[in-house]
Amino acid sequence: MYNSKSKIATEFIDHEEILKTLEYAEKNKENRPLIEDILERAKDCKGLSYQEAAVLLECELPDIMEKIAKLAQEIKLKFYGNRIVMFAPLYLSNYCINGCRYCPYHGSNKHIARKQLSQEDIVREVTALQDMGHKRLALETGEDPEKCPIEYVLESIKTIYSIKHKNGAIRRVNVNIAATTVENYRKLKEAGIGTYILFQETYHKENYEYLHPTGPKHNYSYHTEAMDRAMEGGIDDVGIGVLFGLNLYKYDFVGLLMHAHHLEDTFGVGPHTISVPRIRPADDVDMNDYSNAIPDEIFEKIVAILRIAVPYTGLIISTRESQKTREKVLKLGVSQISGASSTSVGGYAEREEENSAQFEVNDTRTLDEVVNWLLELGYIPSFCTACYREGRTGDRFMQLVKSGQIANVCQPNALMTLKEYLEDYASEDTRRKGETVIQKEIPHISNEKVRQIVREHLEELHEGKRDFRF
Ligand code: SF4
Ligand code: SF4
Repeated sequence: MYNSKSKIATEFIDHEEILKTLEYAEKNKENRPLIEDILERAKDCKGLSYQEAAVLLECELPDIMEKIAKLAQEIKLKFYGNRIVMFAPLYLSNYCINGCRYCPYHGSNKHIARKQLSQEDIVREVTALQDMGHKRLALETGEDPEKCPIEYVLESIKTIYSIKHKNGAIRRVNVNIAATTVENYRKLKEAGIGTYILFQETYHKENYEYLHPTGPKHNYSYHTEAMDRAMEGGIDDVGIGVLFGLNLYKYDFVGLLMHAHHLEDTFGVGPHTISVPRIRPADDVDMNDYSNAIPDEIFEKIVAILRIAVPYTGLIISTRESQKTREKVLKLGVSQISGASSTSVGGYAEREEENSAQFEVNDTRTLDEVVNWLLELGYIPSFCTACYREGRTGDRFMQLVKSGQIANVCQPNALMTLKEYLEDYASEDTRRKGETVIQKEIPHISNEKVRQIVREHLEELHEGKRDFRF
């Protein structure tokens, strides 16, 4: 029986309720009065229920599709302006005891190189990332309690925060590790992580169990209830996502929103971020097994409706996607992207000779090229990490977003962190474009006092000072 506040996975993600929702959406996919009403209410930026979002996803009426895209763009602009937050993944270890069929790190893959970064390796990798200009990382590990225990992850986080190379610093470490205990989540919180990220892969229990035949990840309930334990452990910024292509996308789309509503209803805070990865070719993964892979048009539609359905939640896209696709979904709702990513263990300091990548990267440009491209498209690449460092997490963060006040800090922070990037890491061309964008954007800071402070800080940044924030 569906119960959004239940602590039991199969109750807050209820299979029958998802099927009922899909049936309702199918029945109403051409119900214009209902759809127009949903879109009208969505303009208030208060989000949508999973039933309403499912109707929009099912609808194929061309004029409605256009309206969905337009509204998504408006909501994106209202909450996130033209800012795009940058980050990079850092793979610490690819030892894994799970058997996920779609991932080359699965335990029985004998021909992938297994690696784990030592603390010295981490210093080299993070120095290389700092030298590119990154300030925000997402740590990734496989699951192996012996080779990669929580103590190793905690030590690695400490090492990362301690590295200061030239003007570089990693100011926010998000963590994507396997579902764990409340006690371990508490330790991660104490270590100063930003967001805890865990993808559900698919919400369809039967398919989930088939796709994860062995290892602790086989346990659907333990995995699905992980965010509840993370919140109990004090982590109030969590990031969810599914791997589109593993299962029927409509089912997972509803599951994803049900999960978001569960967190909001139970803890008063919805997910901080939602990631939208699509399955990619990888070593020892047979792509013929994934007939549910979704085409670009559907992918773009999913992003647009998520933007409308959960306006307060950041949407993340990785270098799995091509430059062309990234360009399209940035407009429709994505607010964070990775740049210059290595999906291998140890791929930043040196190019690796043995393949240890988790998936093939589609967008292989350098960070400077990505920043340059964003500037050219009229975006402000932002290296901001201010909220977490100012204690604006969980419901404090959500209140600020819901009141619309967040834009007043995001905009100045974006300009100041972009300025740092331009001073320390940018090519001549990127610097020129960036300075033009900064000058153009300053007048858009609505508060006169803030505008004046930003002008002063930009001057100080040019003179060599660093790390200003609101
Ligand atoms: Fe291991 Fe994660 Fe890959 Fe599964 S998806 S095999 S848990 S690294
Ligand atoms: Fe993100 Fe907060 Fe910075 Fe805005 S001010 S970009 S919400 S960290």
